[in-house]
Amino acid sequence: MNRVAVVGGGTMGCGIALAVAAAGFEVTVVEPDGAAAARASERIAKDALRMNAAAAPERISVARTISELSGFDLAIEAVPEDLQLKEQIFLALEKTLGAQAVLATNTSSLSVSAIADAMEHPRRLIGLHFFNPANVMRLVEVVRGERSDDAAVAIGKAFVESLGKTAVVAADTPGFIVNRVARPYYLQSLYALEEEVGEPADLDAFARGAGFRMGPFELMDLIGLDVNYAVSQSVFSQMEEVRLAPVALQAEMVERGELGRKSGHGFYQYDPSGKRIDDATPPAAPLGPMAAPETIALLGYGPLAGDLAIRLENASAKFQQIALDDQIADLDLQATTIVLDAGDGASDRTEFLIALERTLPQDVILLVDAYATLISRLIEKCKHPERVVGFGILGSLDHQDVVEIVDLDATSDEALELAEEFFGALGKRVQLVGDGPGLFLGRVIGSVINEAIYAVQEHVASADDVDAAMRLGMNYPLGPIEWGREIGAPRVARILTQLAHERGMEFGPARALWVLNVDNSQPPDIVAQMGEASPLVTSSEGEKQR
Ligand code: NAD
Repeated sequence: MNRVAVVGGGTMGCGIALAVAAAGFEVTVVEPDGAAAARASERIAKDALRMNAAAAPERISVARTISELSGFDLAIEAVPEDLQLKEQIFLALEKTLGAQAVLATNTSSLSVSAIADAMEHPRRLIGLHFFNPANVMRLVEVVRGERSDDAAVAIGKAFVESLGKTAVVAADTPGFIVNRVARPYYLQSLYALEEEVGEPADLDAFARGAGFRMGPFELMDLIGLDVNYAVSQSVFSQMEEVRLAPVALQAEMVERGELGRKSGHGFYQYDPSGKRIDDATPPAAPLGPMAAPETIALLGYGPLAGDLAIRLENASAKFQQIALDDQIADLDLQATTIVLDAGDGASDRTEFLIALERTLPQDVILLVDAYATLISRLIEKCKHPERVVGFGILGSLDHQDVVEIVDLDATSDEALELAEEFFGALGKRVQLVGDGPGLFLGRVIGSVINEAIYAVQEHVASADDVDAAMRLGMNYPLGPIEWGREIGAPRVARILTQLAHERGMEFGPARALWVLNVDNSQPPDIVAQMGEASPLVTSSEGEKQR
C-alpha cells in the first residue's frame, strides 16, 4: 500500500492526512469546498512544522471530487457525522476505486455496519477511528463491522501500526471502546457535583491527584459541553443502559449556552483568549512530620493496610498493626492516639467500629476507610462522632497524591487537623469531600472500571486492548482493568454495591467484575459475601475464590 485517499479536509481529515504523509505515504485529500480546501492546506503546513515533518505536506495533494481518485489502496472518510452523506461517499468510493481497495470510516458515533448497509461490497468497510489531533494521538480504534472482512481488519491494523500508532480492534458497538468506557468519568462526576460531593475545582484536583491528565470538569469545558453531551446522548440512545444516561445538569448547562471554554463559561469562566479567569489556587503542599508524636494502631490487612504499614514505617511513626479478627476485648489501645481502620478493604465495618469506638478513650481519633464503610451512618451510633474521620485511598498510595477526607458537620476541627497531619506525614495532601458511596474517586474510577469490564464481557475488545485504548486515547494513568486489579475486585464491588443502593441497581458491579479477582489475595470469605464468581472465571478458579 502506498497511496491513501482522505475524504474530507476538516479537523480530522487534515490530521489524518498529515499522520499518513509523515509515515511516507502519498495522500490525496478530497475536499469539495474551496475555502475549506485552502484552510486545509494552510493547516497541514502549520501542523507539519510543529511535528517536525516539514516534508510531509509535499506528499499531500488536494482534489475536489472522489471521481478524480484512481489507483488508491485505502480511502479514509472524515466528512461530517451524517449517515446519508457517508453512504453517498462510500457508494462513490466503491465506484471509483478498484475492488482491492479497503475503505474506512472515521465515524465516532455511527454504526460502521449501518454505513455498510448501503454498499455493494460491505465487506470492504472497516472503521478507523482516529483521535483528535490525529497527527499527535497515538491510538486508533480499528472497528470491525458485522460484515467487515477479516483481511480488511488485518490490513487496517497493519496500516495503523505502519503510522507508528497503536491499533486496538473494537467491535462495532456504541462509542466503541474509548467513548464508551470514558462515559462514567463524566457522568459520575456530574452526579457527584449535583449531590454536592464537592465543587468542580476540588473534584478536578482529586482526579489530577489520581493521575488523570485533566479533571472531568476542565476536560468537559475543553471538549465543549454540547459535544460531550451529544456523545453521551448518542451512546445512551443506542445502548439504553440507565447507568449511561446523560445527566440533567449538563443538559441544562447546554440549554443555557454554557458550553465551556468556547462560550467563555462552563464549569469555569474564561476570558476571550480562552484563559481561565478563576484559576484555582493550587492545593497546599503536604504538611511535614507530625507535630506531636502520635501512637498509631493500624487495624486490618489486605493491600490498603499493607501499603499504609509500609508508609508508616518509612515515616518512622510509632505504630502497631493489628489483625482484623482480634477480639475487641483483647485489644489494648489505651496508649494509642490514632486508631486507623483499613479493614479488609471491602467489608462494611460499621458494626465492628461502633463496638470498638465505645471502648476507646475519649481523645483517641478514629480514621476509617470511607470506601468500605459509610461514615455518616457509622457516626449515628458512635459515642463521640466528632472524633471519627473518613478517608479515601482507592488503590496504591503511589497513584494518589490527594487523600479524600469526609467533611461532616459532626466532625471536630481537631480531628480533621489531625487527619491532615497524619496523611501529610505520609507525604499526601488532603482535601475535604462530601460523604457518599465511593466519595469522589472511588465512585468515578470504580464506575469506569465497571464499564471497562462490561465492554470486555460483551466482547467489544480484549482487556489488554481496553487498557491500551484508555491509556493512549484518554491519557488515563492506568488502564481500567489493570487499575481494577490493583484496587482489588472486592473493593471495587463494595463501592459499586453502595452506589447501587443509593442510585439504583443499574449502577452496581458487573458480574464479570470477579474476573479481576483471579490473581487477588483477598480472603475467600469476602468473595463469598459478594456473590458468585463470574462465568468468565473458570470453575476451578471460582472454587478457589469461594
Ligand atoms: P469537520 O466539520 O471539521 O470536517 C468535515 C469536512 O468534510 C469539512 O471540511 C467539509 O467541507 C468536508 N465535506 C463535507 N461534505 C463532503 C463531501 N461530500 N466530500 C468530501 N468532503 C466533504 O469534521 P471533523 O471534526 O473533521 O469530523 C469528521 C468525522 O470525524 C466525523 O465523522 C466525526 O464524527 C469524526 N471524528 C471527529 C473527531 C473530532 O474530535 N473532531 C474525533 C474523532 C472522529
